[in-house]
Amino acid sequence: MEGGKLLIFSAPSGSGKTTIVRHLLQQPELNLAFSVSVTSRPRRGNEVEGVNYYYITAEEFIQKIKNEEFLEWEEVYRDNFYGTLKSEVERLWAEGKNVIFDIDVAGGLRIKRKFPEKTLAVFVKPPSIDELKIRLKKRSTESDDKINMRIAKASVEMATEPLFDVVIKNYDLKAAFKDAHRLVAKFVGAPEPEFEDNEE
Ligand code: 5GP
Repeated sequence: MEGGKLLIFSAPSGSGKTTIVRHLLQQPELNLAFSVSVTSRPRRGNEVEGVNYYYITAEEFIQKIKNEEFLEWEEVYRDNFYGTLKSEVERLWAEGKNVIFDIDVAGGLRIKRKFPEKTLAVFVKPPSIDELKIRLKKRSTESDDKINMRIAKASVEMATEPLFDVVIKNYDLKAAFKDAHRLVAKFVGAPEPEFEDNEE
């Protein structure tokens, strides 16, 4: 496998990494494409097959593990598998793209270990666990049980911050967008973005 750069955005659920990744995908000069993961969790109402995820059953997922189809995979929450297909990254590399990932902390670090030189591993840091709780509750796409499961995992994930190449603080979304844009532009060799003075 060989090709463009890999940009990993990992963070506890609710830290805003998905929003940051979407923002970066809108910047044409970064030449990014999103790595669509496979998951066995149910599709949420607003999600689209092949855009947010490829949705399969846990049995199908386990078969793909056996077939060694994954670059990395994790049972992120109990019985909810998530993984990055080798074929997905190869497809995007063949299109000449830099590939951006919205994946959990363990999966992100695994890809970094596999491709240390061409990967930038970014940790998106939320202000606090309390703020995460508020954000997850506002999102209200999950039951209280599921939210509590995500918060418990978030506390563990927060401790992995030093293992990443770089940390973006997501205390203020606009500032986080700019930090992320600058960092990624530098890493992929795109022109440094210019922001209006009044936006700073
Ligand atoms: P959600 O269910 O909210 O879409 O995602 C739950 C968590 O799984 C998030 O932290 C998300 O980034 C992570 N995730 C999504 N796709 C993958 C993947 O392919 N591999 C790994 N390891 N984690 C993933």
